[in-house]
Amino acid sequence: EKLFSGFSKTRDNLAVIDELLLYWNLSDTDRVLDELEEALLVADFGPKITIKIVESLREDIYAGKIKSGSEIKSVLKRSILDLLTSKALKTELSLGFRKPAVIMIVGVNGGGKTTSLGKLANRLKRGGAKTLLAAGDTFRAAASDQLEIWAERTGCEIVVAEKEKAKASSVLLQAVKKGKEEGFDIVLCDTSGRLHTNYSLMEELVACKKTVSKVVNGAPNEILLVLDGTTGLNMLPQAREFNEVVGVTGLILTKLDGSARGGCVVSVVDELGIPVKFVGVGEGVDDLQPFNAEEFVDAIFP
Ligand code: GDP
Repeated sequence: EKLFSGFSKTRDNLAVIDELLLYWNLSDTDRVLDELEEALLVADFGPKITIKIVESLREDIYAGKIKSGSEIKSVLKRSILDLLTSKALKTELSLGFRKPAVIMIVGVNGGGKTTSLGKLANRLKRGGAKTLLAAGDTFRAAASDQLEIWAERTGCEIVVAEKEKAKASSVLLQAVKKGKEEGFDIVLCDTSGRLHTNYSLMEELVACKKTVSKVVNGAPNEILLVLDGTTGLNMLPQAREFNEVVGVTGLILTKLDGSARGGCVVSVVDELGIPVKFVGVGEGVDDLQPFNAEEFVDAIFP
């Protein structure tokens, strides 16, 4: 329900497609496809995906494979679903078999990193995993206080920096060591979220990744990039940059309960081939859901 209401703007942008297709006939194809293209662009699908979708529809229509407006709509929905699932199938967390599994949460400031970490901790804890939080955002003073509130709320233990200006990698080192010694199943690591163009942040992330891999072979098991679903196509360069530097294994799209810009979800998955693993649909402890591509497509094209 929350996902559905969050995509109301995207649905409004795409509503024109239903009208267009209702009166479609073969001789009108090029005009209808031009307007469909416009609607997809307005809904943030981005030029690359939009052209790919529209040209494939044009080919199928002129080849006689599609014969009605309703068929155009179902092929359109199917091609978006295929883009989401064929490129990025693995939407569950891969936690490996060594303990503790280490999950790093990365992203720019304000995107919802710490909140998503708290909500994820809640899901994991409820699923029976002994979960430890690591306050690796040592740059923003309030971040570790915020994470302590989440630790209390979810009943998870937390490791925070012992002194001011501590290095993020030393907090993560301490947490992963504790996780290993004390039999934790999962260590969830927060990280600093300055701008993606900030070189030293990226270096710090690389150092964090190296540090945890020295304690547990194969760690980090997941590097989840948090992207603000209301930022539209601006999320693309961010995602590219993080992926190049640290290798992102999954996406968490937040604020999909607000006025999310649906099309960019498809663009980012297509461009990077990284699966969306979770979506944030609110600020509450239960407002993180596993991503379901079919539900997503139904929410934007009911
Ligand atoms: P960080 O700087 O990336 O750690 O971002 P925060 O976790 O502090 O989140 C920034 C703001 O976004 C906070 O006010 C959160 O409550 C809010 N927020 C995070 N995720 C969601 C979400 O899924 N939906 C809504 N509506 N707000 C969210």
